[in-house]
Amino acid sequence: MKADYYDILGVGRNASSDEIKRNYRKLAMKYHPDRNPGDKTAEEKFKEAAEAYEVLSDPEKRDIYNRYGHEGLSGTGFRGFSGFEDIFSSFGDIFEDIFGFSSGKTRSRTTPRQGADLRYDLSISFMDAAFGIVTHIDLEKFQRCRECGGTGASPGTEPEVCSTCQGRGQVTQRTGFFSISTTCPHCRGAGSVIKNPCRDCRGTGKAKVQKKVQLKIPPGVETGSRLRLRGEGEDGEFGGPRGDLYVFIHVEPHEFFERKGDDILCKTPISITQAALGATIRVPTLNGDEKIKVPKGTQHGKIFRLKGKGFQHLRGFGKGDQIVQTVVEVPTHLSRKEEKLLKEFAKLRGEQ
Ligand SMILES: [Zn+2]
Ligand SMILES: [Zn+2]
Repeated sequence: MKADYYDILGVGRNASSDEIKRNYRKLAMKYHPDRNPGDKTAEEKFKEAAEAYEVLSDPEKRDIYNRYGHEGLSGTGFRGFSGFEDIFSSFGDIFEDIFGFSSGKTRSRTTPRQGADLRYDLSISFMDAAFGIVTHIDLEKFQRCRECGGTGASPGTEPEVCSTCQGRGQVTQRTGFFSISTTCPHCRGAGSVIKNPCRDCRGTGKAKVQKKVQLKIPPGVETGSRLRLRGEGEDGEFGGPRGDLYVFIHVEPHEFFERKGDDILCKTPISITQAALGATIRVPTLNGDEKIKVPKGTQHGKIFRLKGKGFQHLRGFGKGDQIVQTVVEVPTHLSRKEEKLLKEFAKLRGEQ
């Protein structure tokens, strides 16, 4: 029978996250393996507390535990104590609090790290969004310095192994029962020291470069669409992969067309006589003008649908429609003769 997480941490079921954290700290201090070398019971207690904290400090897991208990959690794939590495990486801040050091076990300065992702905002025209476009953007980003190959040391020289920490990036001191590792003050954790910095990058190992990146924008994109270009971000560190580039699309408005999903709305003015008598009118579409027959007695706001004249569906086959909506325009200036005829027209219809 597994013990109750709240009992393990010695808190009530309604304990606040602060309370949970406080009690966990106390237990972690007491049972930390560095303080209890070789003591199996202490290690078990430590693991138990870490597991309880992992669950109760996570609102989602805590909720599942509250409702369904241990079994509910194992149903989600939770497997209890996840090992020291994970505990340190998840709760590094707590151990920093407790021991005054950030755990060197989690992130050494030479661990491969992925490069930063980049964002680029691109404006394109309505037509380019409709048909897609191959274009390029000019990107400014950091990449590994070519001159020194990213070492930061002047060409022909190499970073020297730090004499204070012998390249470990950490120094360890024994105080009482347990040892404390801290970041090496001499090399600031790098493990190496640069005597002659590279002039191009001033020892940083990185250089700002301009890069042209080819973009193939598919037909059908809209404002808010995001293209991901793998590996076009910044260089990784210590052999880590490059980051990605995200291009955020902004589509400029069009003079006549308005996009509604994959349909295109186009408001088309017609005169009162065209509306009353019927007419064939021309409307612009993505692929040039198209003729539409407006029947006799067409009302203002009437909708005509041009099948398949809209946007390409971004996912899947087919296209949206073009929706043509009539706007009946009433003349604002009438000549004498026109006015006379309209008055006659009104009389014929028995209007006052
Ligand atoms: Zn350099
Ligand atoms: Zn050092």
